[in-house]
Amino acid sequence: MKVLFGGLTQAHETLISAAVKPLGYEALPLPTPDNEALRIGKEFCNKGQCNPTYYTVGNLLKFLFKKREEGLEVEREFVFVTAGSCGPCRFGMYEAEYRRALKEAGFPDFKVVTFEQARALTDEQEGPLRFDRRFFLSVIKAVFLGDLINDLYYKVKPYELKEGATDLWKERALGLLAEALERGSSVLKALRRVKRELSAVRVNYFTPKPKVKITGEFFAQTTEGDGNYRLAAWLIEEGAEPVVEPVATWIDYLVFVRQLSVKERAFKDRLKAVKELLALKAFGLYLRSLYELYRRALGGKPDPLKSQKKLARYAEPYYDPRIAGGEGHMEVGKHVYAVKHKLAHLVVSVKPFGCMPSTQSDGVQAKVVEDLKGSLFVSVETTGDAEANAKSRVLMKLYEAKELAREEYERAKRELNLTDRRIEEASKRLARADLSLPRRYAATAANALLLV
Ligand code: SF4
Repeated sequence: MKVLFGGLTQAHETLISAAVKPLGYEALPLPTPDNEALRIGKEFCNKGQCNPTYYTVGNLLKFLFKKREEGLEVEREFVFVTAGSCGPCRFGMYEAEYRRALKEAGFPDFKVVTFEQARALTDEQEGPLRFDRRFFLSVIKAVFLGDLINDLYYKVKPYELKEGATDLWKERALGLLAEALERGSSVLKALRRVKRELSAVRVNYFTPKPKVKITGEFFAQTTEGDGNYRLAAWLIEEGAEPVVEPVATWIDYLVFVRQLSVKERAFKDRLKAVKELLALKAFGLYLRSLYELYRRALGGKPDPLKSQKKLARYAEPYYDPRIAGGEGHMEVGKHVYAVKHKLAHLVVSVKPFGCMPSTQSDGVQAKVVEDLKGSLFVSVETTGDAEANAKSRVLMKLYEAKELAREEYERAKRELNLTDRRIEEASKRLARADLSLPRRYAATAANALLLV
Protein backbone atom coordinates (compact mmCIF):
# COMPACT_ATOMS: atom_id res chain seq x y z
CA MET A 1 0.00 0.00 0.00
CA LYS A 2 1.36 3.43 -0.97
CA VAL A 3 1.34 6.23 1.58
CA LEU A 4 0.19 9.58 0.13
CA PHE A 5 1.21 12.86 1.74
CA GLY A 6 1.71 16.50 0.72
CA GLY A 7 1.54 20.17 1.65
CA LEU A 8 5.27 20.93 1.77
CA THR A 9 7.76 21.89 -0.95
CA GLN A 10 9.10 19.62 -3.67
CA ALA A 11 12.49 19.44 -1.87
CA HIS A 12 10.91 18.33 1.42
CA GLU A 13 8.65 15.79 -0.22
CA THR A 14 11.40 14.19 -2.32
CA LEU A 15 13.56 13.74 0.75
CA ILE A 16 10.77 12.51 3.04
CA SER A 17 9.87 9.81 0.50
CA ALA A 18 13.50 8.67 0.50
CA ALA A 19 13.89 8.86 4.29
CA VAL A 20 10.95 6.58 5.11
CA LYS A 21 11.80 3.97 2.49
CA PRO A 22 14.26 2.07 4.73
CA LEU A 23 11.43 1.86 7.33
CA GLY A 24 9.31 -0.05 4.85
CA TYR A 25 7.05 2.76 3.65
CA GLU A 26 6.48 3.55 0.02
CA ALA A 27 5.61 7.22 0.33
CA LEU A 28 4.24 9.13 -2.63
CA PRO A 29 3.97 12.94 -2.49
CA LEU A 30 0.84 14.44 -4.03
CA PRO A 31 1.43 17.05 -6.76
CA THR A 32 1.59 20.70 -5.65
CA PRO A 33 -2.01 21.90 -5.03
CA ASP A 34 -3.34 24.12 -7.82
CA ASN A 35 -6.54 26.07 -8.48
CA GLU A 36 -8.21 22.98 -9.90
CA ALA A 37 -7.65 21.35 -6.50
CA LEU A 38 -9.18 24.44 -4.86
CA ARG A 39 -12.25 24.12 -7.09
CA ILE A 40 -12.67 20.42 -6.27
CA GLY A 41 -12.18 21.13 -2.57
CA LYS A 42 -14.89 23.79 -2.62
CA GLU A 43 -17.24 21.38 -4.35
CA PHE A 44 -16.87 18.58 -1.82
CA CYS A 45 -16.06 20.30 1.52
CA ASN A 46 -18.33 22.17 3.88
CA LYS A 47 -18.81 25.85 3.18
CA GLY A 48 -16.89 28.49 5.15
CA GLN A 49 -13.53 26.67 5.40
CA CYS A 50 -10.16 28.40 5.07
CA ASN A 51 -8.63 27.92 1.63
CA PRO A 52 -5.76 25.55 2.70
CA THR A 53 -8.57 23.11 3.60
CA TYR A 54 -9.97 23.35 0.09
CA TYR A 55 -6.55 23.16 -1.57
CA THR A 56 -5.36 20.12 0.38
CA VAL A 57 -8.61 18.16 0.42
CA GLY A 58 -9.25 18.99 -3.25
CA ASN A 59 -5.69 17.99 -4.13
CA LEU A 60 -6.17 14.53 -2.64
CA LEU A 61 -9.50 14.08 -4.44
CA LYS A 62 -8.02 15.28 -7.74
CA PHE A 63 -5.29 12.64 -7.45
CA LEU A 64 -7.74 9.89 -6.52
CA PHE A 65 -10.11 10.75 -9.40
CA LYS A 66 -7.19 10.49 -11.82
CA LYS A 67 -6.06 7.14 -10.43
CA ARG A 68 -9.62 5.80 -10.51
CA GLU A 69 -9.86 6.81 -14.16
CA GLU A 70 -6.63 4.91 -14.80
CA GLY A 71 -8.38 1.84 -13.42
CA LEU A 72 -6.71 1.62 -10.00
CA GLU A 73 -8.58 0.47 -6.90
CA VAL A 74 -7.60 3.52 -4.93
CA GLU A 75 -9.12 2.45 -1.60
CA ARG A 76 -6.92 -0.65 -1.59
CA GLU A 77 -3.79 0.87 -3.06
CA PHE A 78 -3.37 4.13 -1.15
CA VAL A 79 -3.61 5.55 2.34
CA PHE A 80 -3.31 9.28 3.09
CA VAL A 81 -1.30 10.61 6.04
CA THR A 82 -1.75 14.08 7.47
CA ALA A 83 -1.11 16.00 10.67
CA GLY A 84 -4.13 16.01 12.97
CA SER A 85 -4.34 19.43 14.56
CA CYS A 86 -2.22 22.40 15.48
CA GLY A 87 -4.40 24.19 17.96
CA PRO A 88 -7.70 26.00 17.99
CA CYS A 89 -8.07 26.86 14.31
CA ARG A 90 -9.76 25.16 11.40
CA PHE A 91 -6.80 22.82 11.03
CA GLY A 92 -8.38 20.81 13.83
CA MET A 93 -11.30 20.06 11.49
CA TYR A 94 -9.22 18.89 8.52
CA GLU A 95 -9.56 15.22 9.38
CA ALA A 96 -13.36 15.46 9.46
CA GLU A 97 -13.31 17.44 6.20
CA TYR A 98 -11.17 14.79 4.50
CA ARG A 99 -13.52 12.01 5.60
CA ARG A 100 -16.64 13.90 4.62
CA ALA A 101 -15.30 14.94 1.21
CA LEU A 102 -13.98 11.44 0.45
CA LYS A 103 -17.38 9.97 1.23
CA GLU A 104 -19.14 12.57 -0.94
CA ALA A 105 -16.70 11.92 -3.79
CA GLY A 106 -17.34 8.18 -3.75
CA PHE A 107 -14.40 6.92 -1.67
CA PRO A 108 -16.19 6.02 1.61
CA ASP A 109 -13.59 3.41 2.62
CA PHE A 110 -10.50 5.38 1.78
CA LYS A 111 -8.13 5.48 4.79
CA VAL A 112 -6.94 8.79 6.20
CA VAL A 113 -4.39 8.39 8.97
CA THR A 114 -3.62 11.34 11.22
CA PHE A 115 -0.93 11.96 13.81
CA GLU A 116 -0.80 14.65 16.44
CA GLN A 117 2.06 17.01 15.69
CA ALA A 118 2.61 18.13 19.25
CA ARG A 119 2.55 14.57 20.66
CA ALA A 120 4.75 13.32 17.82
CA LEU A 121 7.67 15.06 19.49
CA THR A 122 7.72 12.86 22.53
CA ASP A 123 5.15 10.03 22.28
CA GLU A 124 4.76 7.07 20.00
CA GLN A 125 1.40 6.77 18.23
CA GLU A 126 -0.04 3.46 17.22
CA GLY A 127 -2.50 2.97 14.38
CA PRO A 128 -2.64 1.47 10.90
CA LEU A 129 0.80 3.00 10.37
CA ARG A 130 3.42 2.98 13.08
CA PHE A 131 4.45 6.50 14.02
CA ASP A 132 7.35 5.76 16.31
CA ARG A 133 10.39 7.83 17.19
CA ARG A 134 12.44 6.34 14.35
CA PHE A 135 9.77 7.36 11.87
CA PHE A 136 9.55 10.94 13.12
CA LEU A 137 13.31 11.40 13.39
CA SER A 138 13.73 10.18 9.81
CA VAL A 139 11.06 12.63 8.63
CA ILE A 140 12.59 15.47 10.65
CA LYS A 141 16.04 14.85 9.14
CA ALA A 142 14.54 14.94 5.65
CA VAL A 143 12.61 18.13 6.47
CA PHE A 144 15.77 19.88 7.73
CA LEU A 145 17.70 18.88 4.63
CA GLY A 146 14.84 20.14 2.43
CA ASP A 147 14.87 23.44 4.35
CA LEU A 148 18.59 23.92 3.80
CA ILE A 149 18.42 23.12 0.09
CA ASN A 150 15.53 25.57 -0.35
CA ASP A 151 17.41 28.23 1.60
CA LEU A 152 20.48 27.86 -0.64
CA TYR A 153 18.37 27.74 -3.80
CA TYR A 154 16.72 31.09 -3.07
CA LYS A 155 20.03 32.65 -2.05
CA VAL A 156 21.66 31.68 -5.34
CA LYS A 157 18.95 31.60 -8.01
CA PRO A 158 18.41 35.41 -8.26
CA TYR A 159 22.13 35.91 -8.96
CA GLU A 160 22.90 33.02 -11.35
CA LEU A 161 24.77 33.95 -14.52
CA LYS A 162 23.54 31.01 -16.58
CA GLU A 163 19.79 30.59 -16.50
CA GLY A 164 18.71 27.29 -15.02
CA ALA A 165 22.11 26.44 -13.46
CA THR A 166 20.70 26.65 -9.91
CA ASP A 167 17.72 24.46 -10.83
CA LEU A 168 20.07 21.80 -12.18
CA TRP A 169 22.15 21.99 -9.01
CA LYS A 170 19.01 21.64 -6.86
CA GLU A 171 17.87 18.58 -8.75
CA ARG A 172 21.30 17.00 -8.38
CA ALA A 173 21.50 17.95 -4.67
CA LEU A 174 18.13 16.35 -3.95
CA GLY A 175 19.21 13.23 -5.81
CA LEU A 176 22.43 12.94 -3.77
CA LEU A 177 20.66 13.48 -0.45
CA ALA A 178 17.78 11.16 -1.30
CA GLU A 179 20.28 8.44 -2.16
CA ALA A 180 22.10 8.92 1.15
CA LEU A 181 18.83 8.76 3.12
CA GLU A 182 17.60 5.72 1.25
CA ARG A 183 20.83 3.78 1.58
CA GLY A 184 21.53 4.91 5.12
CA SER A 185 24.94 6.27 4.05
CA SER A 186 26.56 9.43 5.43
CA VAL A 187 24.33 12.49 5.04
CA LEU A 188 27.22 14.78 6.01
CA LYS A 189 29.34 13.40 3.20
CA ALA A 190 26.46 13.96 0.77
CA LEU A 191 26.04 17.54 2.05
CA ARG A 192 29.72 18.28 1.51
CA ARG A 193 29.35 17.03 -2.04
CA VAL A 194 26.25 19.20 -2.52
CA LYS A 195 28.33 22.20 -1.43
CA ARG A 196 31.15 21.30 -3.81
CA GLU A 197 28.69 21.06 -6.69
CA LEU A 198 27.26 24.47 -5.76
CA SER A 199 30.71 26.00 -6.25
CA ALA A 200 30.37 25.21 -9.98
CA VAL A 201 27.34 27.53 -10.30
CA ARG A 202 28.53 31.00 -11.37
CA VAL A 203 26.87 34.08 -9.91
CA ASN A 204 27.10 37.83 -9.68
CA TYR A 205 26.37 38.63 -6.05
CA PHE A 206 27.17 42.31 -6.73
CA THR A 207 23.76 43.13 -8.22
CA PRO A 208 21.74 44.97 -5.57
CA LYS A 209 18.37 43.26 -5.11
CA PRO A 210 15.85 43.65 -2.29
CA LYS A 211 15.44 40.74 0.07
CA VAL A 212 11.79 39.84 0.61
CA LYS A 213 10.87 37.76 3.63
CA ILE A 214 7.84 35.55 3.00
CA THR A 215 5.91 34.91 6.16
CA GLY A 216 2.27 34.30 7.16
CA GLU A 217 0.15 31.20 7.58
CA PHE A 218 2.00 27.87 7.32
CA PHE A 219 0.43 26.46 4.13
CA ALA A 220 0.30 29.82 2.36
CA GLN A 221 3.93 30.66 3.03
CA THR A 222 5.23 27.15 2.28
CA THR A 223 3.41 25.98 -0.85
CA GLU A 224 5.08 26.50 -4.22
CA GLY A 225 1.88 26.60 -6.28
CA ASP A 226 -1.35 28.54 -6.75
CA GLY A 227 -1.94 28.60 -2.97
CA ASN A 228 0.33 31.66 -2.77
CA TYR A 229 0.39 32.55 -6.49
CA ARG A 230 3.89 30.99 -6.76
CA LEU A 231 5.14 33.95 -4.78
CA ALA A 232 8.83 33.03 -4.37
CA ALA A 233 9.39 32.26 -8.06
CA TRP A 234 7.51 35.42 -9.07
CA LEU A 235 9.61 37.58 -6.73
CA ILE A 236 12.76 36.32 -8.46
CA GLU A 237 11.27 37.26 -11.85
CA GLU A 238 10.56 40.72 -10.43
CA GLY A 239 14.21 41.19 -9.46
CA ALA A 240 14.05 40.32 -5.76
CA GLU A 241 15.66 37.71 -3.52
CA PRO A 242 12.99 35.76 -1.60
CA VAL A 243 13.75 34.63 1.94
CA VAL A 244 11.68 31.56 2.74
CA GLU A 245 10.96 30.18 6.18
CA PRO A 246 12.34 26.73 7.07
CA VAL A 247 9.76 24.17 8.23
CA ALA A 248 12.25 23.59 11.07
CA THR A 249 11.04 26.86 12.64
CA TRP A 250 7.58 25.31 12.92
CA ILE A 251 8.94 22.12 14.53
CA ASP A 252 11.02 24.20 16.93
CA TYR A 253 7.92 26.28 17.71
CA LEU A 254 5.95 23.13 18.61
CA VAL A 255 8.63 22.20 21.16
CA PHE A 256 8.67 25.76 22.49
CA VAL A 257 4.91 26.09 23.02
CA ARG A 258 4.73 22.67 24.58
CA GLN A 259 7.36 23.82 27.11
CA LEU A 260 5.30 26.92 27.82
CA SER A 261 2.19 24.88 28.51
CA VAL A 262 4.09 22.39 30.74
CA LYS A 263 5.46 25.30 32.79
CA GLU A 264 1.95 26.67 33.23
CA ARG A 265 0.70 23.27 34.43
CA ALA A 266 3.65 22.80 36.81
CA PHE A 267 1.69 23.85 39.91
CA LYS A 268 -0.46 20.67 39.66
CA ASP A 269 2.23 17.96 39.48
CA ARG A 270 5.66 19.48 39.86
CA LEU A 271 7.77 16.34 39.46
CA LYS A 272 5.98 15.20 36.30
CA ALA A 273 6.27 18.68 34.84
CA VAL A 274 10.01 18.90 35.57
CA LYS A 275 10.62 15.52 33.91
CA GLU A 276 8.62 16.49 30.84
CA LEU A 277 10.34 19.85 30.66
CA LEU A 278 13.79 18.28 30.77
CA ALA A 279 12.82 15.80 28.04
CA LEU A 280 11.52 18.65 25.87
CA LYS A 281 14.62 20.75 26.45
CA ALA A 282 16.87 17.83 25.49
CA PHE A 283 14.79 17.13 22.39
CA GLY A 284 14.82 20.83 21.40
CA LEU A 285 18.59 20.94 21.82
CA TYR A 286 18.99 17.81 19.70
CA LEU A 287 16.89 19.32 16.89
CA ARG A 288 18.75 22.60 16.84
CA SER A 289 22.14 20.86 16.95
CA LEU A 290 21.16 18.62 14.05
CA TYR A 291 20.07 21.60 11.97
CA GLU A 292 23.30 23.42 12.80
CA LEU A 293 25.41 20.36 11.96
CA TYR A 294 23.83 20.10 8.51
CA ARG A 295 24.06 23.86 7.98
CA ARG A 296 27.78 23.85 8.73
CA ALA A 297 28.35 20.94 6.38
CA LEU A 298 27.03 23.31 3.70
CA GLY A 299 29.64 25.88 4.65
CA GLY A 300 27.36 27.88 6.96
CA LYS A 301 25.75 29.65 3.99
CA PRO A 302 22.09 28.92 4.88
CA ASP A 303 20.61 31.07 7.66
CA PRO A 304 20.74 29.64 11.19
CA LEU A 305 17.47 28.75 12.93
CA LYS A 306 15.86 31.67 14.71
CA SER A 307 15.77 31.64 18.49
CA GLN A 308 12.22 30.83 19.65
CA LYS A 309 12.82 32.83 22.81
CA LYS A 310 13.63 35.89 20.72
CA LEU A 311 10.61 35.39 18.46
CA ALA A 312 8.37 35.22 21.52
CA ARG A 313 10.05 38.20 23.17
CA TYR A 314 9.72 40.32 20.04
CA ALA A 315 6.07 39.36 19.59
CA GLU A 316 4.98 39.59 23.24
CA PRO A 317 4.15 43.33 23.36
CA TYR A 318 1.69 42.75 20.49
CA TYR A 319 0.62 39.08 20.59
CA ASP A 320 0.61 36.80 23.61
CA PRO A 321 2.80 33.72 22.91
CA ARG A 322 0.24 31.62 24.81
CA ILE A 323 -2.40 32.25 22.15
CA ALA A 324 -2.35 29.08 20.08
CA GLY A 325 -3.69 28.42 16.59
CA GLY A 326 -2.03 28.83 13.20
CA GLU A 327 1.42 30.35 13.45
CA GLY A 328 0.49 31.90 16.82
CA HIS A 329 2.78 34.75 17.79
CA MET A 330 5.36 33.81 15.15
CA GLU A 331 3.92 35.97 12.36
CA VAL A 332 4.51 39.06 14.46
CA GLY A 333 7.79 37.73 15.90
CA LYS A 334 9.20 37.01 12.44
CA HIS A 335 8.33 40.49 11.20
CA VAL A 336 10.18 42.13 14.09
CA TYR A 337 13.05 39.64 13.76
CA ALA A 338 13.47 40.34 10.02
CA VAL A 339 13.81 44.07 10.67
CA LYS A 340 15.97 43.91 13.80
CA HIS A 341 18.37 41.33 12.37
CA LYS A 342 18.51 42.91 8.88
CA LEU A 343 17.14 39.77 7.25
CA ALA A 344 15.04 41.56 4.64
CA HIS A 345 14.04 44.91 3.14
CA LEU A 346 10.38 43.91 2.83
CA VAL A 347 8.18 41.45 4.72
CA VAL A 348 5.25 39.91 2.82
CA SER A 349 2.75 38.09 5.00
CA VAL A 350 0.51 35.68 3.11
CA LYS A 351 -2.94 35.00 4.54
CA PRO A 352 -5.26 32.39 3.15
CA PHE A 353 -8.84 33.49 2.68
CA GLY A 354 -10.87 32.53 5.74
CA CYS A 355 -7.92 32.10 8.13
CA MET A 356 -8.82 33.02 11.70
CA PRO A 357 -5.40 33.24 13.45
CA SER A 358 -3.84 35.22 10.59
CA THR A 359 -6.61 37.77 10.81
CA GLN A 360 -5.79 38.21 14.49
CA SER A 361 -2.08 38.80 13.97
CA ASP A 362 -2.80 41.06 10.99
CA GLY A 363 -4.76 43.26 13.36
CA VAL A 364 -1.59 44.18 15.28
CA GLN A 365 0.87 44.41 12.39
CA ALA A 366 -0.04 48.08 11.77
CA LYS A 367 1.16 48.89 15.28
CA VAL A 368 4.33 46.78 14.73
CA VAL A 369 5.09 48.76 11.54
CA GLU A 370 4.56 52.03 13.39
CA ASP A 371 6.86 51.02 16.25
CA LEU A 372 9.60 49.56 14.06
CA LYS A 373 9.78 52.66 11.91
CA GLY A 374 11.92 51.68 8.83
CA SER A 375 9.82 48.49 8.26
CA LEU A 376 8.28 47.74 4.88
CA PHE A 377 5.42 45.31 5.39
CA VAL A 378 2.52 44.15 3.28
CA SER A 379 -0.02 41.47 3.99
CA VAL A 380 -1.88 39.86 1.12
CA GLU A 381 -4.87 37.56 1.17
CA THR A 382 -4.75 34.55 -1.14
CA THR A 383 -8.15 33.60 -2.42
CA GLY A 384 -7.02 31.68 -5.47
CA ASP A 385 -8.69 34.10 -7.88
CA ALA A 386 -7.29 37.52 -6.99
CA GLU A 387 -3.71 37.06 -8.16
CA ALA A 388 -3.42 40.38 -10.01
CA ASN A 389 -4.71 42.28 -7.00
CA ALA A 390 -2.36 40.56 -4.51
CA LYS A 391 0.67 40.94 -6.77
CA SER A 392 0.03 44.60 -7.50
CA ARG A 393 -0.04 45.28 -3.73
CA VAL A 394 3.31 43.54 -3.34
CA LEU A 395 4.75 45.40 -6.37
CA MET A 396 4.00 48.78 -4.82
CA LYS A 397 6.08 47.91 -1.76
CA LEU A 398 8.69 46.11 -3.83
CA TYR A 399 9.48 49.36 -5.61
CA GLU A 400 10.38 50.95 -2.25
CA ALA A 401 12.35 47.85 -1.24
CA LYS A 402 14.41 48.08 -4.45
CA GLU A 403 15.29 51.65 -3.58
CA LEU A 404 16.33 50.59 -0.09
CA ALA A 405 18.58 47.82 -1.44
CA ARG A 406 20.24 50.21 -3.91
CA GLU A 407 20.80 52.85 -1.22
CA GLU A 408 22.27 50.26 1.12
CA TYR A 409 24.64 49.07 -1.60
CA GLU A 410 25.83 52.61 -2.34
CA ARG A 411 26.28 53.29 1.36
CA ALA A 412 28.34 50.09 1.76
CA LYS A 413 30.50 51.15 -1.19
CA ARG A 414 31.21 54.49 0.49
CA GLU A 415 31.86 52.93 3.89
CA LEU A 416 34.28 50.43 2.37
CA ASN A 417 35.85 52.97 0.04
CA LEU A 418 35.33 50.81 -3.07
CA THR A 419 35.31 51.94 -6.68
CA ASP A 420 33.11 50.38 -9.40
CA ARG A 421 36.25 49.20 -11.19
CA ARG A 422 37.54 47.34 -8.16
CA ILE A 423 34.14 45.75 -7.65
CA GLU A 424 33.95 44.64 -11.26
CA GLU A 425 37.37 43.02 -11.06
CA ALA A 426 36.45 41.30 -7.81
CA SER A 427 33.11 40.06 -9.17
CA LYS A 428 35.00 37.74 -11.56
CA ARG A 429 37.07 36.33 -8.73
CA LEU A 430 34.07 36.04 -6.38
CA ALA A 431 31.63 34.34 -8.75
CA ARG A 432 31.30 31.02 -6.91
CA ALA A 433 27.74 30.46 -5.69
CA ASP A 434 28.86 28.62 -2.54
CA LEU A 435 30.65 31.67 -1.07
CA SER A 436 29.46 32.39 2.46
CA LEU A 437 28.87 36.11 2.74
CA PRO A 438 29.27 38.15 5.94
CA ARG A 439 25.97 39.39 7.43
CA ARG A 440 26.45 43.09 8.15
CA TYR A 441 23.85 44.49 5.76
CA ALA A 442 20.46 43.20 4.60
CA ALA A 443 21.31 43.19 0.87
CA THR A 444 23.37 40.30 -0.46
CA ALA A 445 25.20 42.69 -2.81
CA ALA A 446 26.21 44.97 0.08
CA ASN A 447 27.47 41.99 2.08
CA ALA A 448 29.41 40.73 -0.96
CA LEU A 449 31.31 44.04 -0.96
CA LEU A 450 32.82 43.02 2.37
CA LEU A 451 34.72 40.27 0.53
CA VAL A 452 36.30 42.59 -2.05
S1 SF4 B 1 -3.99 28.66 10.36
FE1 SF4 B 1 -5.67 29.59 9.22
S2 SF4 B 1 -5.53 28.81 7.15
FE2 SF4 B 1 -4.25 27.51 8.43
S3 SF4 B 1 -5.60 25.83 8.99
FE3 SF4 B 1 -5.78 27.34 10.64
S4 SF4 B 1 -7.55 28.63 10.06
FE4 SF4 B 1 -6.91 27.47 8.23
